[in-house]
Amino acid sequence: MKKLTRTLAAVLTASVVFALLFVVLVLPPRAVRLDSSAWRDVAARTVSGAYHVHTSRSDGSGDKDHVAAAAARAGLQFVILTDHGDATRPPDPPVYLHGVLCIDAVEISTDGGHYVAIDMPAAPYPLGGAPAAVVEDVSRLGGFGIAAHPDSPKASLQWRDATAPIDGIEWLSADTEWRNESRRALTRAALGYFLRPGPALATLLNRPATLNRWDAMVRTRRVVALAAHDAHGGIGRTAEDGSRRFVADMPTYEATFRTFAIRVAMDRAWAGDAATDALALLTSIRAGRVFTTIDALAAPGLLEFHAETARGRIEMGSAVPAGTAARLVARVLAPPGAQVLIVDDSLLRRRGGLSALGASRRVGQDGTQELQTQLGAGEGAFRVEVNVPSAPGTPPVPWLLSNPIYFLPAPISRVEGAVSEAGEAIDPATWRVERDSGSSAALIAGPPPVLGYTLQAGERRSQFVAVAAPISRKAFGAIRLRLRADRPMRVSVQLRRPDGQRWRESIYVDATVRDLIIPVARLAAVGERSEPIESTQVESLLLAIDLVNAVPGSSGQLTIERVVLVS
Ligand SMILES: [Zn+2]
Ligand SMILES: [Zn+2]
Repeated sequence: MKKLTRTLAAVLTASVVFALLFVVLVLPPRAVRLDSSAWRDVAARTVSGAYHVHTSRSDGSGDKDHVAAAAARAGLQFVILTDHGDATRPPDPPVYLHGVLCIDAVEISTDGGHYVAIDMPAAPYPLGGAPAAVVEDVSRLGGFGIAAHPDSPKASLQWRDATAPIDGIEWLSADTEWRNESRRALTRAALGYFLRPGPALATLLNRPATLNRWDAMVRTRRVVALAAHDAHGGIGRTAEDGSRRFVADMPTYEATFRTFAIRVAMDRAWAGDAATDALALLTSIRAGRVFTTIDALAAPGLLEFHAETARGRIEMGSAVPAGTAARLVARVLAPPGAQVLIVDDSLLRRRGGLSALGASRRVGQDGTQELQTQLGAGEGAFRVEVNVPSAPGTPPVPWLLSNPIYFLPAPISRVEGAVSEAGEAIDPATWRVERDSGSSAALIAGPPPVLGYTLQAGERRSQFVAVAAPISRKAFGAIRLRLRADRPMRVSVQLRRPDGQRWRESIYVDATVRDLIIPVARLAAVGERSEPIESTQVESLLLAIDLVNAVPGSSGQLTIERVVLVS
């Protein structure tokens, strides 16, 4: 009996010691609850949500209803769904489910990484191919495009185009963050996950390398930063690239949503009507009136950031001309011990890492901190960053990140018609049709010649049609094209060497006659090779329509008004 008691006592002691060790060594602290009662008006106008979420429509585990229910449990007010696709599916209209506003968007795969398009109607042809072409298409269709997971350790997922005029960027991506963690950190997060899922997932966050890239971009143009959940909902599902999650049934949508949120500053509280509220939300996101908070550390974070200028009040996300005098005002509801900074992104003032601007600080009775700084002549971008001592990562992830107020140089106006006409026009009589064996194409001799085509219907099997003209291996620096088509389409302008190697650039064509000039240097090699092009070695020029931006069975007419090799 005594022996049994002793054994029991030993087991109990061991359990208590284990539990204590677990709490001390593994369990991440609970999120700090912030009291926003003194700042009710701002709290009512600030909506919290998840951006970049996959449902069972692509590779997520749950349907829209399941995702909305998880978002509601996590305290979110909206979710932006971004299932993989080519943008030809018309997006579902906005809808409230479980009190959560669900907005349908699409994540497009390009040759240079993933690009999310929100607030865009269905595309007339599949979007894909060169990243710059997809950025151009999303912009023409009126969408808002966001470079997805730009620093993913998976090369196939990274957004690699540094020059395309993207509208937004994912400064933080949960899908990137867990990939660069050690096995030990992942194990620890997995153990802590069962008691405090949100805070456990947050332990995997670091200050992302993307922040530096974004800081470099915003010195000269507006780029809206968003934090991306890239949530797939666990349950044995695959991650972004088809590989397994580190533990099959985690993280759930709800756990991911409890890690961080994007918070959008609206003009007024929501009306309760899905279409009206979605329009207001997307307008604010486009305007850059959005910030990120790591809710697993402290919530709800609130921010008001504006500039006072002679022209009036400028909100976060907006731009004024460089040289404008302004007073920057940032007010934040943050946890105790938080360091609130107004960060100056301009090149000259930057010394090494973060360059915080000197600012006068006032801490209010209600727990808010207010920072003010006077700029004689603003230049570049200024944003708010709040760091807290409990932040995970090396270097630690910021607890709050705003979008900037910009002081930008006037855009350089394009000089039209300044390009030399000198060159050699391609003789319309020399165009010849090329196609795969199943597709049909005919050239109706002009002037101007018209290519009528139908790609073979059914399975995808590298269907293509093209017109090709011989080139007598002369030096030229650009191709000038005047084309039109009976419907919106993308034409691949290609140069081919006698050994079959091709270089290409994709252009948009529709019923409007457009003059386009493509510098030869801009053409990219097709396939693995990346050698530069030599115009003197080229034997033919092709205008091709293929499955990059067309579906099997599609047809059309391309009118070739004029093609000139500009020397
Ligand atoms: Zn992706
Ligand atoms: Zn994704």
